[in-house]
Amino acid sequence: MATMLPSILSVDVEDWFHVLDVPGAPALDTWAALPSRVEANFHKLLDLFSASGARGTCFFLGWVAERFPHLVKEAARRGHEIASHGYAHRLAFELSRQEFVDDARKARQILEDIAGSPVEGYRSAGFSVTDATPWFFDGLIEAGYRYDSSVFPAAREHGGMASAARAPHRMDVAGGSLVEFPITVADLLGQALCFFGGGYLRIFPLPLITAMAEKVLREGRPVVFYIHPREIDPTHPRVAMGLRRRFKSYVNLRTTEPKLRALLARFPVTSFRDFQARFPAAIGAVQ
Ligand SMILES: [Zn+2]
Repeated sequence: MATMLPSILSVDVEDWFHVLDVPGAPALDTWAALPSRVEANFHKLLDLFSASGARGTCFFLGWVAERFPHLVKEAARRGHEIASHGYAHRLAFELSRQEFVDDARKARQILEDIAGSPVEGYRSAGFSVTDATPWFFDGLIEAGYRYDSSVFPAAREHGGMASAARAPHRMDVAGGSLVEFPITVADLLGQALCFFGGGYLRIFPLPLITAMAEKVLREGRPVVFYIHPREIDPTHPRVAMGLRRRFKSYVNLRTTEPKLRALLARFPVTSFRDFQARFPAAIGAVQ
């Protein structure tokens, strides 16, 4: 059996009001007037990571980086990789190719100016690469990126690419070559599910998450964990939304921090950049 791979720790660095696809979601021109919680929450996350000796990849929203550049610098100082979550948190499938490229490039340039080093990685708002965005990967290369972690290879309420490859792989597209790290899914009772981030991490019990992570690692894939700063802040303000969506957005917030601590104690993690440098053989050609 091959050596067990480390897993990957990722944070989408955004605020409590950066929720998607609900009528009550605040518009971009109102964000600056809302009471921000991202500074305190991100510092708390960084401390939690430091206590576990964990390093990972921080996908900053360009808008957040612009307002709080010291958060980018602090993450880099603590050894985390700086990557991009786009500028304005727009769903890729609601943009034209050019709007997408402009948003992704703007975020990269802001982050590189602050960090003083190249930004290679991208994650789209809401994992919004779908069959409706055939220009997505080519557009990312045009915007200056080298890898992506936006594909959700299972059914999902908005987005999702159920037939996409599950393991990290290199893809050759018109503009060049890009590495894709899909969000990790695993089969439970014949259904492909994610257990390792966002609402999934909050809903599923820790013993199940742990067992599914071990299964993924035995299959020779790294587990991609993902977290948002608001998820360790159970009392953050709520965005108005329907009952079903409210459940998914806010259920079990109190469990996130203890689950995260337990997972980081059990599973060695690293950043996407470090993983690619150390385990090139774990990145396959596209299936
Ligand atoms: Zn996001």
